Amino acid sequence: MAIAHGPLVWFDGEFVAWEKATVHVATHALHYGSSVFEGIRAYRTPQGTAIFRLQPHAERFVNSCKIARIALPYTAAQISDAICETVARNGQPACYIRPLAFRDDAVMGLDGRRCGTKMIIFTVEWGAYLGQEAIENGVNAMVSSWRRMAPDTGSSLAKIGGQYVNSQFASMEARDSGFDEAIVLDTTGNLSEGPGENLFLIHEGIIYTPPLVSSILGGITRSAVITIARDLGYEVREQALPRDFLYIADEIFMTGTAAEVTPVRSVDRIVVGAGKRGPITQRIQERFFAIVHGEVPDTHGWLTPVAVRAPATGD
Ligand code: PMP
Repeated sequence: MAIAHGPLVWFDGEFVAWEKATVHVATHALHYGSSVFEGIRAYRTPQGTAIFRLQPHAERFVNSCKIARIALPYTAAQISDAICETVARNGQPACYIRPLAFRDDAVMGLDGRRCGTKMIIFTVEWGAYLGQEAIENGVNAMVSSWRRMAPDTGSSLAKIGGQYVNSQFASMEARDSGFDEAIVLDTTGNLSEGPGENLFLIHEGIIYTPPLVSSILGGITRSAVITIARDLGYEVREQALPRDFLYIADEIFMTGTAAEVTPVRSVDRIVVGAGKRGPITQRIQERFFAIVHGEVPDTHGWLTPVAVRAPATGD
């Protein structure tokens, strides 16, 4: 399937046509996964296009580079400006934004710190990650045979390209086994997260989510959903959770920039609650979508407006 991409790619500070945004086959990141990325959504609102939580995404990108020791010649503020400009020029009222920094082709060998850093930003049109049907009715998930990286075999807080082979294994296994998505345990056997989503469980009216020490990514949707849930009056507990909590939960949902707020209707073929989106999940989901679509006041300052221009063409 062709990618519905914007016409321009921001490439090291210049705008180039999508077709011209290429790299050499010796690029270090292609060989060793030495890249850092973000995924950000811009939504269509009645006031125009708005980027959801731009600043924390730009900050996480800078922090991921720091952890990966990838020298980045831009500040979070400069990256935010470049993202806004890319969205404005590409002319898509709603899009998924992909910033990526990576080691170039200057040296071979694992220690690539003598490589230069390249950075790109592109945009694509991307609907509901697990499908619109999943947003309403939930997904069927399985506990993966793969584990998240241990605290001393990787950095779960950083979005480093190479680390996503682990997520790819879990996603492919789930789909090959007839499920929509995986739930991955940490190396102690406790719940961690999905391959690209954080995990929430509801039991007797209380909302639970694994903490950062359970090898999760500190999700930006996760933190928004914790805030929304508390605004709605729910108690949210970040604590280590055993696998079997999945099977007795009243409701489960996953969060992420791509997945937004997606209910889970079964795990390992055991039905969650009533087997459909639960009432607390639905309330949180409705508030989340109302905020991102600009239908209620943006009381937390989560939206950055962008004046999207008519699509440009590359030079
Ligand atoms: N966990 C992993 C492993 C992810 O890749 C993502 C997607 N960035 C998430 C959780 C959700 O994070 P966010 O809400 O910031 O997109």
